[in-house]
Amino acid sequence: MNKKNIKHKISLVYTLRGILAGLIISMCFFGLAVIAGTMGYGAVTYVLAGLGITAGFGFLGFLLSFIKKGAVMKDIIRQEKQYGVSFDASPVREAGNSRTVFRSDDWLVFHDRMRTNAWYKDHISAIERVGSRTDGSRKGLMRITDVDGKKMAMIYRISETDLEAELNDWLHPVIIPEENICPKCGTVNEAEAQYCAECGEKLN
Ligand SMILES: [Zn+2]
Repeated sequence: MNKKNIKHKISLVYTLRGILAGLIISMCFFGLAVIAGTMGYGAVTYVLAGLGITAGFGFLGFLLSFIKKGAVMKDIIRQEKQYGVSFDASPVREAGNSRTVFRSDDWLVFHDRMRTNAWYKDHISAIERVGSRTDGSRKGLMRITDVDGKKMAMIYRISETDLEAELNDWLHPVIIPEENICPKCGTVNEAEAQYCAECGEKLN
């Protein structure tokens, strides 16, 4: 299995489709604007041209968000095949309309509109929140550092405290404290257990 970290750009075809659809709608308005112009309705011309610009950008944004889910899934499936790894496709966090964090047992996957990055767990040394979305510093990001101390990535605008905690629980699983090993029979009990699940001995 290839356990290198994966950086992948989503095919431009999704973006180009959105741009094309936006352009077509814009051109329809501009066509109407030209007709209005030749018929002598000057003010109407400007209004239609403005609508054309607005519709173009609006529809582009709509289409990008609409195709997002399909693009994410196709991208992940393609990478599963390419690298022989299995990504649990259930997202741990979706932010805005375009950013999603996935993780499996071994991989952390971050997806936004244009790219998917996947990091192999053993290559990650730290996941830290280095800013918030609301502090106005435009530092709303999560920093991922590799085992050599090199900065690997900044995940912009997904920087909630609870996500940081959740990802760190995943990165550094809680080890059962020693005192929950039963002194009588040696069974390892759950951290909160008061009595041994195996023999009933009181645990300290
Ligand atoms: Zn016991």
